[in-house]
Amino acid sequence: MNTATGVKGRRRFASPPPARGLEPRAGTAPETPGTPGVSSAVKPVGITEIFSSLQGEGPHVGEPHIFVRFEECNIHCAYCDELGKPAVSMGLEEVLNEVISLEKSRGPHAFVSLTGGEPLLYVNFLEPLAGHLKTAGFRIYLETSGILPKALLRIVGGVDVVAMDIKLKSITKEARNYFEEHREFLRLSKRAGEVFVKMVVGPEVDMDEFLEGVRLMSKESRETLLVLQGVTSDHLSFPRTRESTELDPRFRGDDMNKTLLDLQRTALQFLPNVRIIPRLHIAMGIR
Ligand code: SF4
Repeated sequence: MNTATGVKGRRRFASPPPARGLEPRAGTAPETPGTPGVSSAVKPVGITEIFSSLQGEGPHVGEPHIFVRFEECNIHCAYCDELGKPAVSMGLEEVLNEVISLEKSRGPHAFVSLTGGEPLLYVNFLEPLAGHLKTAGFRIYLETSGILPKALLRIVGGVDVVAMDIKLKSITKEARNYFEEHREFLRLSKRAGEVFVKMVVGPEVDMDEFLEGVRLMSKESRETLLVLQGVTSDHLSFPRTRESTELDPRFRGDDMNKTLLDLQRTALQFLPNVRIIPRLHIAMGIR
């Protein structure tokens, strides 16, 4: 336990933060620590991990991204596999240096993906971070539950892609839905370069909730892409043995696939762009 910050665990990063200061991407304006812009007054935050990988979800699937994963979330989805992971406290300059180090060693990357947890819980940190990343030439991809519109308003002008959720309580098992928050969030997200909506669904989905989410999109932003994603990845898992020629029936995921196809047909009655996109990193067995 780091008593100074309340966060615990070991750092899980690609490299230790460079001893020297910020260095720009090739061809971008110089940016050094101590210069105006890298304020030591910004409070450190809990970061779970910073790493380079492929974007695993949504229409940008397969692109190389640098992921900056913030620790906490303000809701608790039953299917979440991120909450409770150990984090460390990192300052603004440390995060920037780590991102730039990854860009040098593993780049080029299409985006820096700010994810979590819920990154918008850390908007006081996010606002200067996004500004510095833009100055250094990075594009910003924000992954969010889509329920904190006031925080979004502070940074949306610098965000290139907003990947927002519409949460359905029949899937999250939360006490309530967040349709009003989602409506305002979607309206504001149109100020970003691009926005798409993801709904995590499964056979237990409540059709009234699903339709409310679809109608919300239809009314607020009809052209926005809706991505349907299965709540589990079992239906994408294949037998591991080479000898197997048929899918193990346990892994065919007939119920999930039927649900996804039925929901897509339903949503297409209201929206022009609805896609089923599985999670690439799960299929590839990478993080
Ligand atoms: S919104 Fe995302 S990070 Fe938060 S609990 Fe749900 S799945 Fe986890």
